[in-house]
Parts: sequence; C-alpha cells; structure tokens
Amino acid sequence: MRFTLTLYTRVPFPHRLSRPSIHMGGEGGGERCGSMPEEMNPFKIAQSQVETVAKMLNLDEGLTEFLKNPQRELHVSFPVKMDDGNIKVFKGYRVQHSMARGPTKGGIRYHWDTNVDEVRALAMWMTWKCAVVGIPYGGAKGGVTCNPKEMSDNELEKLTRRFASEISIVMGPDTDIPAPDVNTTPQTMAWIMDTYSMNRGYTVPAVITGKPIPVGGSLGRNEATARGTVITIREACKKLGIPLEGATVAVQGYGNAGSIAAYLIHDMGAKIVAVSDSRGGVVNWDGFDPREAIKHKQETGSVVGFKGFDAITNEDLLELEVDILIPAALENVITSENAPNIKAKISGEAANGPNTPAADDIMHGNGVLFIPDILANAGGVTVSYFEWVQGLNRLFWSEDEVNARLEKIMVQAFENVYAIHKERNINMRQAAYVLAMGRVVEAIKLRGFYP
Ligand code: NAD
Repeated sequence: MRFTLTLYTRVPFPHRLSRPSIHMGGEGGGERCGSMPEEMNPFKIAQSQVETVAKMLNLDEGLTEFLKNPQRELHVSFPVKMDDGNIKVFKGYRVQHSMARGPTKGGIRYHWDTNVDEVRALAMWMTWKCAVVGIPYGGAKGGVTCNPKEMSDNELEKLTRRFASEISIVMGPDTDIPAPDVNTTPQTMAWIMDTYSMNRGYTVPAVITGKPIPVGGSLGRNEATARGTVITIREACKKLGIPLEGATVAVQGYGNAGSIAAYLIHDMGAKIVAVSDSRGGVVNWDGFDPREAIKHKQETGSVVGFKGFDAITNEDLLELEVDILIPAALENVITSENAPNIKAKISGEAANGPNTPAADDIMHGNGVLFIPDILANAGGVTVSYFEWVQGLNRLFWSEDEVNARLEKIMVQAFENVYAIHKERNINMRQAAYVLAMGRVVEAIKLRGFYP
C-alpha cells in the first residue's frame, strides 16, 4: 500500500495524475464532460444550485466559492491482476466536499461512466443531504471507473480491497465513512471493512456502513432509502390533500430504491400502475402487486413482459397521468424537453439528480410538487448514520427502533423544507438547499476561518 501524499493548492487536471494525490481547496476546474450540453454535467448543475441559493442567503462570494468546490480530493490509479493473469489499471476517486459538520459520508460507485465530475457532484449533494436531515456529517463520494458486470467475483474482490487500501489514507471511522452506491453491495462493504481492519490489526465496524447484518450492519438499512422516500411522499400527499389510498404511482428504475418504494407505497394503499428498468417498462391502469413484478424481474432480468401488460418506454412512463411519480434510476431524466409534459402531482426523487435546473423551473411553474433528492432519498444515509452509531457503541437496535427513529427524522425534515418552500415561495429543492446550506454555513462561521 502506498502512503505518499501529495498536497496541492491548484491542480489543473488532477484526474490525470497517476499516483495518489490530495488536493485541497479544489478550483472546480478539472475534467469536463466535453461534448455534453452544459446543463447535463452534474458538477456544473450542483454548482449552479449552490449559486442560486447563495444569493437567497446573501452569502458573500468567498464563502460561495468555498461551498461550490470540494474541500479535498484523492485520485488513485491502481493495478489489479485479472483472472487471465493480465494486469489492468483502474482509476478511482474519493471526494470529500465538506467537513464543516462532521466526518464525511457517502457511497462508492462502480460504473464504466463514472468520472471525477460526477463524483464531485454526488459528494456535494451528500453534504446537503446530511444537513437537510440534521445528521452530523459532511458529504463525500467515491467511484471507480470499471465495468463490474464484466468482472468475476474474484476480480471484484481484488479491485475492492486494493481501492480500499488506496483510500484508507483518507477513510476512517472518525474521518470519512463510505457506503454502497450503484453496483456496490453489502458484500463490497464487508470486503472494505475487512481490508481496513486487517491493516489496523483489529475490527473497525464503523469505518463503513451498508454492511451485511452478521458483520455489523443495521436492521432496516436495505429498505431505508425507499422508506424515507415514501414517508416524504405520504407527507406531501397530506399537504396537497391527495388521499394516498388509491393514488396512482409510476416508478422509473426498479432496483433497490425503486422496487422497495413501490411495495412500501403499495402497502400504504396506493396503486402501482407502471414500472420500468433499463430495458423498458410495463403499464396496467388496474394496478398490480409490485412484489410480483420484483419476482418477474428476478426470474427474467427485467420487468418487461410482466404478466403481458402493455409495454411502455422509460420516456413515456415519466409523462403518464398519475398522481405520484418516483424517478429511481438515473440523473438528468427530466429536462427542459419533457418537463412540460409531466402530469404527476408529486415527484418523489429516489434517484440522485433526476431533474435538471430547467426542469425544476418548469415543474414548479406547472404546480408539480417535487420532493428533492437530498430530502426524498435521505433515508439511506440516515440509517447509515444509525449503523455507524451502533457500530461505535457495539449496541444494536431492533428494526422497529430503527424505523421509528427514521420516521421521526424524515417527517421533521419534510416539515422544515415545506415550511421554507411556502414562506419564501420557492421550489422544494431551493427550500431544501436554503435549509441545508444555511446549516453548513452556520457551522463554518462558528468554527471560524483557521488560522
Ligand atoms: P440499482 O442499481 O439497484 O437500481 C437501478 C435501477 O435503474 C435498475 O433497475 C436499472 O435497471 C434501472 N435503470 C438503469 N438505467 C435505466 C434507464 N435508462 N431507465 C430506467 N431504468 C433504468 O440502484 P439503486 O441503489 O436503486 O439506485 C437508484 C438511484 O437511487 C440512483 O440514482 C442512486 O444514486 C439513488 N440512491 C440510492 C440509494 C440507495 O440506498 N440504494 C440511496 C440514495 C440514492
């Protein structure tokens, strides 16, 4: 394992460095998704969201610049000996956006398209997410550019253990605590916990969350993101006077967050009428049992073809005349192009970044109440926080206790954001940012500007 740290104040293209580096006070330049339209670059979107709300909070320029950029980034390049004996070199990132409110927290993503700008945006969104629900963390995110679908379990374990060693210089139970994200699982978390612990000489469960239950995971963690999403949707329905009983729901993305949200909201009396995954979707206006759709996906790899219901594209699903839409797949699925056609009354953003800023303006103007990602999917990090607390204390809670604490936090956060949305007459994302950025700024000011 290499422990060479290189400290930078300005690094023009940090992602191209071939050795581990930390650069402080990043300049926000670096990699750009060259051919993408600007509004599709998640980091630029995240920065523009900060700029908008900084004006609302009357923040000065320097502080705004500080919030717009990650506090610390680690870029690594590391070799893995593949099953065929060849050495393959992978690039990975760990970005820590803000340490103002506590240790940093955020998932690790394995994806062929993962790049440093995506990881920066996700790290920044984690800062606001933790602040909006009032848990004592700053935001971080990690990613490795790889195609896990083409790798064996053995190769994935080696990649994971090597990446964990590389980032162990910035990771730790008091410093930065990762978790699962797209294409990483509780097993991945167990490997990371084990690698970190073996290098310390004792077991450190609180270094990571989203672990399997037998090695210190929390009951309720698997459903937590979706449970948080449906709690916020239920609260939104109360505000708008929409009875949840019989409300029609469409879910885009039928993975962990989407499929669990579907059966939890179905159990509350809502009617699931359409679901989709990367291969397409199905619609049936009579409603159907989402657990059966999960079974069909497990058996066939997709919801497509479920019970012979009508096929629907992902694009058309978003525009259905339903009461509730749950985007639970990818970033940037609702843009200025299709936002005018969204007919749902409520959009509960289980996915991170499903709307572009232009889409926000259009949907808000059309009276669609969207519950922003940093609020709607904050249940996951909230129960991760519970897992960390339980790991530090070596005292574990019942599932009922986990769910009761989650319920309380989500309801309070929703109330706080909704009140700001009404008081200031701003959209729900801006309201969530006003609350979250306000809390982060308060912490920064109280701590002062060292030295
Ligand atoms: P997942 O991999 O379990 O599920 C993703 C689903 O989206 C899969 O069913 C996949 O087929 C589908 N999908 C992929 N491309 C699609 C496309 N073009 N159109 C429609 N569907 C498509 O991932 P997940 O953990 O459920 O995460 C989904 C989203 O929720 C991500 O944005 C993630 O960042 C966010 N999120 C998840 C958690 C969590 O705890 N799982 C927490 C916070 C946020």
